Amino acid sequence: MPSNNRIQMEAAARAQQWEAATDWLNSLAMFEMLPALEKLGAVTRGKLVEQALKILSGRGWNGSAQRIRWANEVVAAKALPTFTPADLPGDQVQDARRYLAALPLSGTAVSAEVKAAVLAAVHTGKIQGVTGQLTSAANNGHFNDGQHTIVLSAGMFHTLAALSRSNTLVLMSMMRYNEGPHGKVGEDGVAVCSAMDITVYSGLSINLINGGNVENTVAGVCKVIDNLPPGLFALGLTRPSPYPKGPPMPDKDIFLPMNPGAGWPMYKVGFPLGNPTPQFVNLKAAEAVNAALGRNPRAKMNRMFQDGPDHLHLEVISASSA
Ligand SMILES: [Zn+2]
Repeated sequence: MPSNNRIQMEAAARAQQWEAATDWLNSLAMFEMLPALEKLGAVTRGKLVEQALKILSGRGWNGSAQRIRWANEVVAAKALPTFTPADLPGDQVQDARRYLAALPLSGTAVSAEVKAAVLAAVHTGKIQGVTGQLTSAANNGHFNDGQHTIVLSAGMFHTLAALSRSNTLVLMSMMRYNEGPHGKVGEDGVAVCSAMDITVYSGLSINLINGGNVENTVAGVCKVIDNLPPGLFALGLTRPSPYPKGPPMPDKDIFLPMNPGAGWPMYKVGFPLGNPTPQFVNLKAAEAVNAALGRNPRAKMNRMFQDGPDHLHLEVISASSA
């Protein structure tokens, strides 16, 4: 049950009675202030907080102003702010932690259980490659490449846990600062990684170097699709080439074409976006990928494009537990 103070605050904020709303807001305990601010919605919350900071600072109540500013950050960023007001009691920080832990899994929130599953997969060899990055991300919440901090999106944790649950996953690369979804840099300079490059899955090598290894590659891509958790993904499909980052070999294309002369430059997104198999060059590959998408309808594709010859690029736009 919301307290009377919270009900009064919400009513005053909606009526744009900022002075009253400020006083009611200031009276709330942290565990109630956070969900109350969230419920107001971004627009009303933004106005109220702006007014409250003015009003409270004007009265010289700087501690109160900083506490509201901090709470607003928690709600807006769904994470603990990098600043903590000097006189904010520790139990209010604990309230914020509890509030964040109870949020639906999105953004940076991920359960300890899922992190433990990923760590266990690393320890037992079910996930191979980039294990240092994974261990650091799961244990410390981030990885530092020597210069920069990179965090792993929650969807990545869910996807890594799902893919390694009953199959072995070999990764070539994952966190790369300022390289597209492998390390998208935010305003705070911290990058978020939401993509992995898979070279082997369930013993199937995903590799079209020189145009060989077609059956394994198609089967490996399908096996990945089969085991994705519910979510939204993008696939950078394997394309044949003599070497990594090498030139196209259009006569050996399997998935989408890579043929700049014929209007298919690198990374061109196939159509329709969710399932461009009609444009696949190899009909068996089209059939197999179609069947895999049909078997796992809760894993939705946002788009597909052609990528490197020696891996499947898997971008996790969002994902949750299976
Ligand atoms: Zn990639």
